[in-house]
Amino acid sequence: MNLKTTPIFDNSYARLPQQFYSCQLPEAVSAPGLIRVNHALAGYLGFDPHWLESAAGVELIAGNYIPTGAQPLATAYAGHQFGGWNPQMGDGRAVLLGEVIATDGKRHDIQLKGSGRTAWSRNGDGRSPLGPVLREYIVSEAMAVLAVPTTRALAAATSGEWVRREERLPGAVLVRVARSHIRIGTFQYFASRQDHGALRALVEHVIQRHYPGAAQAENPVRAMLDGIVARQATLIARWQSLGFVHGVMNTDNILVSGETIDYGPCAFMDAFDAAAVFSSIDQSGRYAYRNQPHIAHWNLSMLAQALLPMLHEDHDQAISTGQAAIDVFPDLYMAAYQQEMRRKLGLTTEQKDDNALIQDLLELMQEHQTDFTLAFRRLSDLADPENSTANHVSSIFEFPAAFNPWLEHWRSRTGSEPQPAKARQLAMYSINPAFIPRNHLLEEAIAAAVSRQDFSDFHALADVLARPFEFDAERQRHALPPRPEQIVRQTFCGT
Ligand code: AMP
Ligand code: MG
Repeated sequence: MNLKTTPIFDNSYARLPQQFYSCQLPEAVSAPGLIRVNHALAGYLGFDPHWLESAAGVELIAGNYIPTGAQPLATAYAGHQFGGWNPQMGDGRAVLLGEVIATDGKRHDIQLKGSGRTAWSRNGDGRSPLGPVLREYIVSEAMAVLAVPTTRALAAATSGEWVRREERLPGAVLVRVARSHIRIGTFQYFASRQDHGALRALVEHVIQRHYPGAAQAENPVRAMLDGIVARQATLIARWQSLGFVHGVMNTDNILVSGETIDYGPCAFMDAFDAAAVFSSIDQSGRYAYRNQPHIAHWNLSMLAQALLPMLHEDHDQAISTGQAAIDVFPDLYMAAYQQEMRRKLGLTTEQKDDNALIQDLLELMQEHQTDFTLAFRRLSDLADPENSTANHVSSIFEFPAAFNPWLEHWRSRTGSEPQPAKARQLAMYSINPAFIPRNHLLEEAIAAAVSRQDFSDFHALADVLARPFEFDAERQRHALPPRPEQIVRQTFCGT
């Protein structure tokens, strides 16, 4: 027997007070089938990727086999959904197997999503259809390669069972990896119950796990809050710089670790549109692209409110401390955003007109419905006139003539940069992807898997997105924007 099939579990969340979770075994499924194992991530976490692909490994992925040392549980949380308060949510279709320490010493949650009913399921079946599992696998892994903090996909399996939604759909389970699954809504859950003992335990856990430096601060809770605010600012700036629309920024879907979670109704935009919203349930556009920074700010103020009893024993002082921590968000975000956008334009120095340069480009793109991803990639081609055109995207994208004055402006701005053109181009190629998980490709891959059990498009897409910064003609199909009839206007929550 191979002894090193799974890593050793160390379950710090299970050592928290009992009101944090319910002990919960996944519900076994009848006929699990392997979809995909993420070999690199498996190795990093200490799983044997080949064992995970074996019949025994697939039993683990699907929730039929509990690895030694795991202590499965479903966590408690609450949250604001589309602005409305929901006092009790929790893991209704997910089970935390436990935590493992990766090769670099970092602790990670191993969670099964779609693994059956829990104490928090209410009327839900605890299951996930195949489509949302494939979507999360592709998009979360693409985000990771694009250097966006995110939960990861370790593996996925079909359950061999049907899931009842509006129609009957094949079921699946995703093994999700996260630095932790602690949400703003986890704090809200205990705060709303005025369970200060639990709130204190949670603060200590989060500081130890995610913000160890805060322990030394004069006010550790404030320092933790500052850290969470700062990570949200850089996270949202990354989203904006890639044209990513999360779609369901409820407070239960915001991790205090600063990782992106919940790939239900998300989408990367094709043509730039500041008002882009994809989620079928977001009628008012609350979570539109341009609103994401404001919503993050609002979510953080909900966190500060939940932390009030911990911030200071005097209520007024607590409020002013929390307010001060939250007030810095817009400036932190704007600084992070402008830095991201300057890098996308190949600028290493700061000049006062840079922001206007960025805004002018976005306005042109909005007006001409320009493909966001390919525009920045084409700009990267143009950054070094000497470079060969072999890997240019000009075969699939060119700026319309209306962009010429802006391009002249940009060329003169880059002319005042200390960096040589070649280095600028390399830097731009390394952050402006040619490939993103385009919605029409995702939908095609999902449709083939769901209707014909054909996973070849899914695997091809996952393989292309593993190298998003290398463009070549062979992979051109995956870089193309959708034809008009392929445009996906709505995405659906994975429930
Ligand atoms: P989400 O929209 O994915 O953020 O989920 C919102 C809440 O609904 C969470 O508490 C989930 O655990 C719960 N939930 C979603 N889908 C299901 C399901 N199929 N069965 C039980 N609970 C679910
Ligand atoms: Mg959620």
